[in-house]
Amino acid sequence: KRVEVQAAEHGIDPNLLDERAVRVVQTLSDAGFEAYIVGGAVRDLLLGMRPKDFDVATNATPEQVKGLFRRAFIIGRRFRIVHVVYGRGREHEVIEVSTFRALLANDGAEQVSGNEKTSKAELAGKSHVVDAEGRVLRDNVWGPQIEDAARRDYTVNALYYDPQRQIVVDYHGGIADAKKRVLRMIGDPETRYREDPVRIIRAVRFAAKLGFEVEPKTRAPIRTCAALLANVPASRLFDEMIKLLQTGHSLASLGELRKQGLARGVFPILDAMLDAKGELGEGPAAQFVRLAFEDTDRRVQEGRGVSPSFMLACMLWREVLERWTRIREGGEPTVPALSMAIDEVFDARIGDISGRGKLATDMREIWMMQPRFERRSGSGVYTLVEQPRYRAGFDFLRLRADAGEIDAALADWWEDFALGGDEDRAALIEEAR
Ligand code: ATP
Ligand code: MG
Repeated sequence: KRVEVQAAEHGIDPNLLDERAVRVVQTLSDAGFEAYIVGGAVRDLLLGMRPKDFDVATNATPEQVKGLFRRAFIIGRRFRIVHVVYGRGREHEVIEVSTFRALLANDGAEQVSGNEKTSKAELAGKSHVVDAEGRVLRDNVWGPQIEDAARRDYTVNALYYDPQRQIVVDYHGGIADAKKRVLRMIGDPETRYREDPVRIIRAVRFAAKLGFEVEPKTRAPIRTCAALLANVPASRLFDEMIKLLQTGHSLASLGELRKQGLARGVFPILDAMLDAKGELGEGPAAQFVRLAFEDTDRRVQEGRGVSPSFMLACMLWREVLERWTRIREGGEPTVPALSMAIDEVFDARIGDISGRGKLATDMREIWMMQPRFERRSGSGVYTLVEQPRYRAGFDFLRLRADAGEIDAALADWWEDFALGGDEDRAALIEEAR
């Protein structure tokens, strides 16, 4: 049933709203459509947090939405939505507008074999498609709001906020669950995990980020359904792992993964980093990752950006180090040995996830700078500090020092060198002889 909750009860602070999201809702409703702020933004608003991005749901079709805005782009195939864009360059902001989806029984959907190689031709022109395991491959049939709510994942994610009337529309008791701080799946949890196994990872993410408890029935099928994550395309899993680590509660996310039995065997990069019990363990390598995660969390919580390449470079450093040492012991010189170690780690843990070129280049650059920091003489020191990515390389060096992997004096030296003028620099080079 549809419940409309008034401001006095939900207590959402209108100051936390994003002006542009409100404008999108306004434009749609002026054109005669229903439109609401929806999903994670409403959940965060209810909890008194400022949402990092805003989604809008409407009964207008993507084409109708596109027609109402100057800069709007229809994107996605599996799930078609419209990006309404405001501003340019670094300041630009995207409001995602999705059309209410119909709740369809999967046995009414077209079924395809659904391995990674499912051909585009097989999917072309179809709007609702599932694979043999029940995983939804296409989801583009429009319907009323009540059905749109039922096909969202968790009750706290299925709330709709009307900024004009300041009411929250709640079909599944999401407001009560938010108050109790529980994450509850809408519908039958096992069926919902089969439709989209990524919901398992989302449960972990929300539990860690919000400090919610996963409700027992929602939690029960997670272990058995986890095997279905093997069917999810590697690139989508990779994106989910990045999100999991950028909640501002990355160590809590690791803890929650462990609690649900998912710390190992799901993400190859975590497998590289965690021991058999799913723990970071002891020693400088473990301490290094712990410090990197704490740093990341601090940055996220202060609203500063975090770069996935830096975080991944930290997570895979232990393995790079191990392979580097082994290759050097085989007689290879230092720098080529590092390069070979990096190639091996990419092959083993990242694979050929397409579109990750830039990420891999940045990670390699951070790592390849590390042996160059060992040399405190010659013209190399000057070219190193002038490098555009010097800062990332230095931050990495500093973390290694803080973790006890290398002597702190080396990081101090580079810090002074980067800050110093010509004379200071000459003196530092002299002193390092
Ligand atoms: P975040 O704060 O991390 O952005 P979010 O809840 O907004 O969290 P999004 O991925 O932005 O997550 O999705 C927006 C909304 O779309 C969700 O709140 C949920 O209602 C719905 N949704 C997203 N992914 C799924 C899914 N896999 N299954 C069902 N509903 C989903
Ligand atoms: Mg969101």
